[in-house]
This record gives sequence, C-alpha cells and structure tokens, in this order.
Amino acid sequence: MNEAPNDYTYLAAHWTAIRERVDAACRAAGRDPAEVSILPVSKTFGPDVVRAAMALGMTRFGENKVQEIRSKAEALADCAIEWVVIGHLQTNKAKDVARLASEVQSLDRLELAEALHRRLQLEGRTLDVLIEVKTSPEESKHGLPPAQLPAFLDALAAYDSLRVRGLMTLAVQSVDPAAVRACFRQLHQLRAQAKAQGHDLPRLSMGMSGDFPLAIAEGATEVRIGSAIFGQRHPVTAQ
Ligand SMILES: *Cc1c(COP(=O)(O)O)cnc(C)c1O
Repeated sequence: MNEAPNDYTYLAAHWTAIRERVDAACRAAGRDPAEVSILPVSKTFGPDVVRAAMALGMTRFGENKVQEIRSKAEALADCAIEWVVIGHLQTNKAKDVARLASEVQSLDRLELAEALHRRLQLEGRTLDVLIEVKTSPEESKHGLPPAQLPAFLDALAAYDSLRVRGLMTLAVQSVDPAAVRACFRQLHQLRAQAKAQGHDLPRLSMGMSGDFPLAIAEGATEVRIGSAIFGQRHPVTAQ
C-alpha cells in the first residue's frame, strides 16, 4: 500500500515566523538580530522531520537524549548535522557524546567533564561546551549552583578537550514574567563575573518557545526553540 508522503510545509511557515519574532524581540531590546541565533530543538520528532528541516537550512539540532541522537544520526548518516546535547547527561553516555555530538550545553559537574574529556581524548577531538547553571529554585531543574561557577570554571581548565564557550540555563516555569526574567538576568550577571575572573564566555543560551523575548531582553545570544518550530511534542521515544 502506498502512503502519501508527509507534508511538512508548516515547517517553513513556522521557521519564518519564529525568525521574525526573534528579530522583533531583538529590536524591542535595542539589539542587533544578527547577535541572536536559533537552535531548533528536534527532540521526539523523527528523522523525516529533521530531514525536512534541513531542507529549510537548519543544520544544528538540540536533543535532550543521547539515545535519540544515536538513532537519528544513524537514520541521517548522509546528512551533515551538528547534534547539540541540551538535556541532563549521565556519565555513562560520554562515549556516544564524544563520538556523535558537536556540542554539549548541559555540562553541570566535574565528574561529567572528566568522563567527556577521557572519551574525547580517545576520539582525538575537542567539544564545545556550555555550562548549565541552575538559576531557578525548582527541584526538577538540573544545573550547577551559581555560587559554584567560579571554582568550576577554574577546575575545567584541566580538561583541555573541552572548549568552554558560555553558559546555559532554563528559567523557572512561572506566569510571572519578572520571575522568569530574573533567571535570565542572573545568567548574564554570572557571565560578567566570570569575565572579571578572566574567563571569556561569549555565548548565553537561554530562552525557549514560551519565554524567548525575555531572554533576548536579558542578553541571550542563542534561543532554544522546539514547539514553535516543530509543533506540540507527543511522547514517542523513551531512553
Ligand atoms: C525541550 C527543550 C527546549 C525547547 O522547548 P520548547 O518550549 O518546545 O521551545 C529548550 N531547552 C531545553 C533544555 C529543552 O529540553
């Protein structure tokens, strides 16, 4: 039986619309839209959707499960894709990350840095990393406690296969924009402190479909956008 090919024309409309909304948020904040990039978050969407997104010019994709990167990378072996890990990472996944990921945005502990460094050395490569900082009081959120950032940055110098490029955070889930914004502001302030300490961290990954204008107002250089591009997620894959 012949199935009709899926129609992904909505992706083009969503992609154009989100870029316009990001640009508008930049202008509202008095910032140059060229300073803010969009990381499409393709978690739970299959290889066919990613392929359609690539046809629109997307080349980097955020995923929160290494197992999912593995299966999509296999299905899309013919594509030059940069896989970006944005979810909580167990150390036993370091081998696959060192092999498959172009970047990790969820580095939050030295044990993980050590595991990644060891595997990267075996692969003979380096990896761009962002440090995930916990700016929200929610128990469910991962990330390094902000007070530990200075010591963490100094300690990371020992792992020269990790190129520390910036900071990442998830804001508190709240209907109060001031509470959300405070999380983003804290990340920006932590970067300034790190700079005074001698660590240059050009990238700030913060903001998602529901809160990116606030993140851009607080200095985001990159917003991680899932549902506004790909639509509502249905839980299709488990790790
Ligand atoms: C899923 C996810 C996103 C994207 O969320 P949307 O609300 O769908 O835009 C961004 N960052 C992280 C860490 C995620 O897990």
